[in-house]
Amino acid sequence: MATSAKKRKKTDAAKQLTEKLFFKKKNAWDGLKAKEQKEIFSLADEYKKFLNSSKTERETIATIEQYSAGLEFVNINQAKKSTKKLFLNYDSVAGALVIINDTNSFEKGFLMNGAHIDSPRLDLKQFPLYEAEDMAYMKTHYYGGIKKYQWVTRPLALHGTIVLESGKSIAIAYGESADEPVFMINDLLPHLAQNQNKKTATNVIEGEQLNILVGSIPYKFKSEKDAIKLAILEKLNKQYGITEQDFVSAELQVVPAGEARDVGFDRSFVGAYGQDDRICAFCGMKALFDVAKDIKQKNLIMVFFDKEEIGSMGNSGAHSNLIERIVNDIIQHYGKGDYNTLLQSLANSKFLSSDVNAGIDPEWKDVSEPMNSAKIGFGVCLTKFTGTRGKSGSNEAHAEYVADVRKAFNKEKVIWQPAELGKVDQGGGGTIALHLARYGMDVVDCGTALLSMHSPFEIASKVDLYHTYKAYKAFYKHL
Ligand code: MN
Ligand code: MN
Repeated sequence: MATSAKKRKKTDAAKQLTEKLFFKKKNAWDGLKAKEQKEIFSLADEYKKFLNSSKTERETIATIEQYSAGLEFVNINQAKKSTKKLFLNYDSVAGALVIINDTNSFEKGFLMNGAHIDSPRLDLKQFPLYEAEDMAYMKTHYYGGIKKYQWVTRPLALHGTIVLESGKSIAIAYGESADEPVFMINDLLPHLAQNQNKKTATNVIEGEQLNILVGSIPYKFKSEKDAIKLAILEKLNKQYGITEQDFVSAELQVVPAGEARDVGFDRSFVGAYGQDDRICAFCGMKALFDVAKDIKQKNLIMVFFDKEEIGSMGNSGAHSNLIERIVNDIIQHYGKGDYNTLLQSLANSKFLSSDVNAGIDPEWKDVSEPMNSAKIGFGVCLTKFTGTRGKSGSNEAHAEYVADVRKAFNKEKVIWQPAELGKVDQGGGGTIALHLARYGMDVVDCGTALLSMHSPFEIASKVDLYHTYKAYKAFYKHL
């Protein structure tokens, strides 16, 4: 053999062996067929609609209940024993979609997916309304981890619920359609900002400066103390029958105004508020809907948690016994088990803790470790552990379970990537996984990578959305 031919053979062998042995991450747009691209874009259109009607956890639960009712899911309180598709609602802020195929062996456990439906935002304070310099403002207290400076000088909407002493609940949504007013938090003009500019980013806007501008016309056009506040309260009283004390029993959330949008010349991204974690909630809901007709033996649950952004506390968060209540409510509905069944069922369940991850951003590359951080457009993230300072506070999934999950993904040609949140000792984070794991079930984190996470306008790749949805379907199908 000539030397060059020998050399070529050697390179070919190396190439083949590389192909066989290396784990190559794949750009999920690469080699896409037109039909699949169409599917991806239509899923994204559906997703944007879902986001537009789901700007708070209450709105999200209402949206999911409405979608599921159209697919013959029945609220467990109205369901018969023969009903196989259930919707469970907890205080209108958390819930679950359930598909039951087997009522005789609940102790074997469920296939569960769970996402959270609360997102970082500004909540109105209990005593919010005041006047300053002949303008009216409302005070807020931020919810979840935000960069406060991102929330100034942009149109804001007000969504939420006021509950009167009578028990009557009033839903409010201001600032979404073009003819509705919006609200705004002011910032200092650059001309006078020399002192402000010396501050660090965490206090360039202080928490107590996150006050929304809500009006300036005094009652009966007569400028005197609190006349503007009075005029605004009169307006709200006429419209909703509320008085100032009613703000105490309200959940009013200031969120970015406007709809989810396509981003980029090629429309490859979705830009929207609240994608952490409604992207996983949407994909989980849709996956459950779409596997319903194919799965005939297993029992499936999709859980929607509240309060994740403030540590999963409260009776609608994953740190409460909500998962126990859900499984118990199901077992009791069919009358097929006792406390022992419940404990066994929880321990034998398999859980996909679905939350977003951070995609590598070329502008801030140094916070990621390129081999093990998520790449945007490279598919859904499989995250074995989260936590900070040496995985502290994390549920680390067992290797056996991760093997089963990855096998399911590969079987369905899901494009996925192993991903950790930032490089070692850069920071980190956690989600709901550990709260489920304490019941003994296997849990692993899995979700979509975002850019600008926790900002008023988060970015997700449409192809990652698609593979998140496919991954959740694969989980239900093959685990
Ligand atoms: Mn999240
Ligand atoms: Mn978050």
